[in-house]
Amino acid sequence: MEIITRVAEMQARASAAKKNGQSIALVPTMGFLHQGHLSLMQEGRRRADLLVASVFVNPTQFGPQEDFASYPRDLQRDAELAAGAGVDWLFVPEVDDMYPQGFATAVTVSGLTEVLCGASRPGHFQGVTTVVCKLFGIVQPQVALFGRKDFQQLAVIRRMTLDLNLPVEIIGLPTVREPDGLAMSSRNAYLSAAERRQAPALIDALQLASAAVKTGERNVERVLALVRNRIDREPDAVIDYAVICNGTTLQAVPEVDGDSVLLLAVRIGRTRLIDNHTLFEEVDIP
Ligand code: AMP
Repeated sequence: MEIITRVAEMQARASAAKKNGQSIALVPTMGFLHQGHLSLMQEGRRRADLLVASVFVNPTQFGPQEDFASYPRDLQRDAELAAGAGVDWLFVPEVDDMYPQGFATAVTVSGLTEVLCGASRPGHFQGVTTVVCKLFGIVQPQVALFGRKDFQQLAVIRRMTLDLNLPVEIIGLPTVREPDGLAMSSRNAYLSAAERRQAPALIDALQLASAAVKTGERNVERVLALVRNRIDREPDAVIDYAVICNGTTLQAVPEVDGDSVLLLAVRIGRTRLIDNHTLFEEVDIP
């Protein structure tokens, strides 16, 4: 595996590979890799001749009060894990090279970005869509892989790719979880031992909701009451949102149906965790 740090070099390498008829898969990440990221890389490995993963803590998707400076970073460990997952080129650009003096463009997806995490984190999705669009231009992948853990992000990226006719197939893959069901996330590293013990409340709440739907409950308020009660049992947990919406439009629905997804954002202490589940499927934890 090679580490490529310059934008121009990455783009030139990708162009040359494409001229040679090689296909490229891209896995964009912010690093501090875990098994969730590696599952995307393993699938990318199967889908193209060349596998590129990026590690870039993108400043424009963090709000001024958010954790850009403290976001966990460990490039050496990331490089070892990425190499083990079959990555050919690890793209690790500098902020100044991605956003040079005079940078003036943003990609905005409306509607989908105004609800849920978009409401709690103004500007976040514009940062995401702009950087992903840039990565598509630099790496020129035929296929890009994203986690369903960031359900709204995946919906927004699908919308952008469709709307801008970007020639990239977007693949969404299932959430990889810890043995107790907590969705893997680089931000889990922030949790104290006491907070970590409370974090499985999210998966418990998703399981309670799915179980209620399985026994015939369709009333959104009653399902959400189960969810809120479960989360509220944890002393340090504060719900940011608990919403049941249509999985495509992300609009809240009055009744649970086959397209309904339960999306959760919960603060435990200073750490904001997200998780989600399609309500008609059973929650599958290891
Ligand atoms: P991040 O480094 O958090 O920006 O995530 C990079 C990619 O990994 C995104 O597509 C995420 O949705 C995906 N991802 C993060 N956590 C998980 C997980 N637990 N399971 C599957 N994919 C994940």
